[in-house]
Amino acid sequence: MALPQRIRPDKAPKVKRRCPSHTKWVGEFACCVPGCAGRPIEVAHVRVGTNGGTSVKPTDDWTISLCRMQWSLMRKRRKSCPF
Ligand SMILES: [Zn+2]
Repeated sequence: MALPQRIRPDKAPKVKRRCPSHTKWVGEFACCVPGCAGRPIEVAHVRVGTNGGTSVKPTDDWTISLCRMQWSLMRKRRKSCPF
């Protein structure tokens, strides 16, 4: 007797985490800190309240343009902040 057809669980659609064309586009904007004209521009991933996780970078949808100084400040704050 043959086994009945196996029912496979529905897989959640795979999230595309990286989009180089989007990050390139974001990097074409000025620093998003009001009044800041710093250069060069870095593309930063926003981690709070987005789809990242512990040791998981959020998708490239969650990027902003920051000058290198603001980007560096954001990284320092992130190391001391559990969120
Ligand atoms: Zn800036």
